[in-house]
Amino acid sequence: MEVRIRCECGAKEAPFNLRDNILPPEVIVALYCPECSQHVSFDKATMILDNGWIIEYDMDLARFMAVAKLGLPAEKITPAFLFDEGYATWKELYPGELEDIKSEKEAIVAILKEDPHRYFQELKNWANARMERLKAEGWRKAQSI
Ligand SMILES: [Zn+2]
Repeated sequence: MEVRIRCECGAKEAPFNLRDNILPPEVIVALYCPECSQHVSFDKATMILDNGWIIEYDMDLARFMAVAKLGLPAEKITPAFLFDEGYATWKELYPGELEDIKSEKEAIVAILKEDPHRYFQELKNWANARMERLKAEGWRKAQSI
């Protein structure tokens, strides 16, 4: 089930993954893109910050569902747990990743016709450089790869 949520200022949208449908989409109370997050005071009890984006969770709902469906102790359920374990997290590595990949790859695919050997080398270089860049940019999901 694909859940797309628009940020509070309305400029951006992000697809979410709700692992095993343990939590309903309503667990995500609000989404703030790097623009609208600047006007939000960060509360680590209910929010996770990922490279300028903020996801705000309904922690009461999250705890209720996680205790009931997963049998976990309520104190284990934190915003970091919901994000890192995939129960309410980006579907991609970061919002907009698939779009970025598409446009970045187009340039490399153009090489395929000219020089297939170089194409595979370029593709490998690109994939490695891309992952290094995402780590350096600080995306939370890239840190564990
Ligand atoms: Zn926004």
